Amino acid sequence: MKYLLCLSLLFTSTLSQAQDIAFGKAIVDTLTKPYFWGRGYTKDGMKKAADFLSAQLSSYGLKPLSNDSYLQSFTYPANTFPGAMTLIIDGKALTPGRDFLVTPNSKGINAKGTLRQLDSAQFISEKNKLAIILKDTLNWSAAPVVADYTVIEVRKRVVHNTAGTFDANIENEFVKKFKAANVCAMVKGTRQPDSFIFITAHYDHLGGMGSDTYFPGANDNASGIALLLNLARYYAVNPQPYSIGFICFAGEEIGLKGSEYYTKNPLVPLKRIRFLLNTDLAGTGHDGITVVNAKEYPNEFRLMNEINDAEHLLPVIKSRGKAANSDHYYFSEKGVPAFFFYTMGGIAAYHDINDRGETLPLNEHEDLFKLVVKFNERLMAK
Ligand SMILES: [Zn+2]
Repeated sequence: MKYLLCLSLLFTSTLSQAQDIAFGKAIVDTLTKPYFWGRGYTKDGMKKAADFLSAQLSSYGLKPLSNDSYLQSFTYPANTFPGAMTLIIDGKALTPGRDFLVTPNSKGINAKGTLRQLDSAQFISEKNKLAIILKDTLNWSAAPVVADYTVIEVRKRVVHNTAGTFDANIENEFVKKFKAANVCAMVKGTRQPDSFIFITAHYDHLGGMGSDTYFPGANDNASGIALLLNLARYYAVNPQPYSIGFICFAGEEIGLKGSEYYTKNPLVPLKRIRFLLNTDLAGTGHDGITVVNAKEYPNEFRLMNEINDAEHLLPVIKSRGKAANSDHYYFSEKGVPAFFFYTMGGIAAYHDINDRGETLPLNEHEDLFKLVVKFNERLMAK
């Protein structure tokens, strides 16, 4: 009987682990589909993602963090590329995303002409306010401003001619008040409901560049959202002594807009947050994780390592100091104790069209889940 019980417990835990990873993969696969168009600035991608996340959190039984809506709406400016996106150099049509990127603050252009070479990597057309820069690798971003020139980065091996001809048709639309929303939910605490642990991750990515090319953003940050949703599902049926708050931030890639807005307009007092765990790039982990703010909160960092060693989870947890590189930043600046952790090793795709769901291993998804649950347990026990 005992043997059978052990066996069934083992089976249950193995099954739930497999389910957790399958769940995580399903979330990443969903959020990286063309329907969400890179969760950015065209084809309503970011809004569709916010609606999807609200529906998920509601279906697990979480309540909105305040009032009756999961959405905390706000606006900010964004330069977008909704339509035409063609570039022909010396008669050769280049593929958007793979062969070239329009730098995010570029104005649109519809012109043809001749390029003048400045040096080994730079070509310009003064008349058309166009610059072509040759690069080894292409990484895109998003911009809240628009310049009065167009800069196009072209992969070096694609063009190595000296001054040649160009034919460019690139459409931009500068949106002064782009509408975005943070998705905020909670599981009420059983003993100290006014004390909070927060788990956060940004759900936006770069969106699309033209009508045919989008950036899926699997590791950045569908992976972090998959982990957050998995934790939300768990906490919904396992309420804790403290309330557990969840925020899926919008506008991270364009300059931490969602978390900046939230910290200026918090839905529960920031002082009530015992600790905040932000995750961004959670899809690998062959070389462990790095914890930003580890040096600011040495006791909590020690605790995290203790748990990791005892449970044999990640290969290593590396310590890093302050950094303004994700959504924990504005919370830290306002005195909220916070860690930002990201996985290391594995795939190299970053801010490019190759950050796709099918290439993302999620090999430490289950270990990260356990680490967060145990870490929070210990924080609340104190
Ligand atoms: Zn990110």
